Amino acid sequence: MTETHYDVIVLGAGPGGYLAAERLGHAGKKVLLIEEQYLGGTCLNVGCIPTKTLLAGAKNYLHAKEACQFGVDATGVTLDWGRLQDWKNQVVKGLVAGVAATEKKAGVTVVDGRGHFDGPGKVTANGVQYTSDHVIIATGSVPAMPPIPGSVDNPAVVDSTGILSLDEVPKRLVVIGGGVIGVEFASLYATLGSEVTVIEMTPEILPFMDDDMAAKLRKATTGITFELGCKVESLDGATVHYSKGEEKLSVEGDVVLMAVGRRSATQGWGAEEAGLEINRGIVVDDCMRTNLPNVWAIGDVTGRSLLAHAAYRMAEIASANILDPDAAKKGEVMRWNTVPWAVYSLPEAAGVGLTESAAKAQGRDVLVAKVPAQMSGRFIAENGFKAPGEAKILVDPKTHQVLGIHVLGAYAAEMIWGAQAVLEMELTVEDLRQVVFPHPTVSEVIREAAWAVKL
Ligand SMILES: Cc1cc2nc3c(=O)[nH]c(=O)nc-3n(C[C@H](O)[C@H](O)[C@H](O)COP(=O)(O)OP(=O)(O)OC[C@H]3O[C@@H](n4cnc5c(N)ncnc54)[C@H](O)[C@@H]3O)c2cc1C
Repeated sequence: MTETHYDVIVLGAGPGGYLAAERLGHAGKKVLLIEEQYLGGTCLNVGCIPTKTLLAGAKNYLHAKEACQFGVDATGVTLDWGRLQDWKNQVVKGLVAGVAATEKKAGVTVVDGRGHFDGPGKVTANGVQYTSDHVIIATGSVPAMPPIPGSVDNPAVVDSTGILSLDEVPKRLVVIGGGVIGVEFASLYATLGSEVTVIEMTPEILPFMDDDMAAKLRKATTGITFELGCKVESLDGATVHYSKGEEKLSVEGDVVLMAVGRRSATQGWGAEEAGLEINRGIVVDDCMRTNLPNVWAIGDVTGRSLLAHAAYRMAEIASANILDPDAAKKGEVMRWNTVPWAVYSLPEAAGVGLTESAAKAQGRDVLVAKVPAQMSGRFIAENGFKAPGEAKILVDPKTHQVLGIHVLGAYAAEMIWGAQAVLEMELTVEDLRQVVFPHPTVSEVIREAAWAVKL
């Protein structure tokens, strides 16, 4: 007979849901994980992993083409898009299988099906009502598709999922939206040979990023035309009509990527009917509690910090607080301002904490130091003397606490966790200067930036 009562039911098996289920399963809880589409969610199937796999292919292609400067003759380098697609599919399949195995090991019961939240402690899937002491909502997010005239049912328009599996690299790609997703795909296809135009409404791409660094990243990409401060008015096939102030402009593409953001998946599974409080997502406190008793929400569905690693942390916090009523006192609360971000374009960038632009907007006094990535011997050896790269640090002038660290250039995403630890531990710049960085590594740019601060 099917078990119908569980300690915890988790709705959605993306990074938030599958990690919460795993943690609680290992802690001895009886957990039911309900997933309607794919284990691993957006991240593993149509988000972080496939994009980074394609970008790895683009990076290898670029490096091979430029290898002669490093004494390697690689003439006649060509791209095999079909094999890159196969590699992407293999990576995704392998990781999804890994999630299934992990859940099994944690003793989690997985149900394939769409779950309907019927109220605290009650979820229905495949016609069976399951009950539980706790429910964790982890339904994620979906691409936002604004109703721009000519865009609906237009076969030339794809979203972030469609663009992953095109039959061929398009000759001309128009990207609507210069956020992370738009910029990563623009960089991918430009590197693979497409003529790419990005149309962005705000005056600079990547609006959450330090303005100055976003501008440097934009200038460092190749093969992309950026149209900033522009509003898309309509589409006609793959021709995009847009305005720049009073000026009316058009650009022709073969494929148009709609990348204007994502919205929390709060609809169609009973959230409103059950009385969950919703604004840009499901409202939660810093322990991931919703307004309903023993109902928790984590990840993109909260509308806050739409990033896989933020979903992981929210999963850990919700699990910790379910397991231990005193967890919050022990530090298991979400610290939203120390969630790092990364853009995996070529070149890449990453950051954590306060940006110089935000400090200026707040009228906040900060000490700022910037150093070029060429301060690192390894960076030069692997990327050349002219490759774009920089580290920037922001420090409180009174307490000397480090408030933000931002890095542009190769390995930025790999090293930002260290910067995150500096902010998380509330270290001062003097503390950071005492850290021993291995030499030669690109991470030494962070050390150099710390020493460049004039106290
Ligand atoms: C192209 C792209 C690239 C990205 N790159 C990065 C990156 O490099 N780094 C990064 O940190 N983030 C990245 N993200 C964002 C990242 O994918 C999300 O932040 C992350 O997946 C959120 O995890 P989640 O668990 O909240 O939700 P999701 O991963 O969206 O998972 C939610 C799951 O819930 C399921 N579900 C929804 N409703 C129901 C229901 N009623 N019943 C059963 N199941 C349901 C869905 O099918 C889905 O599998 C990217 C996103 C995209 C689209």
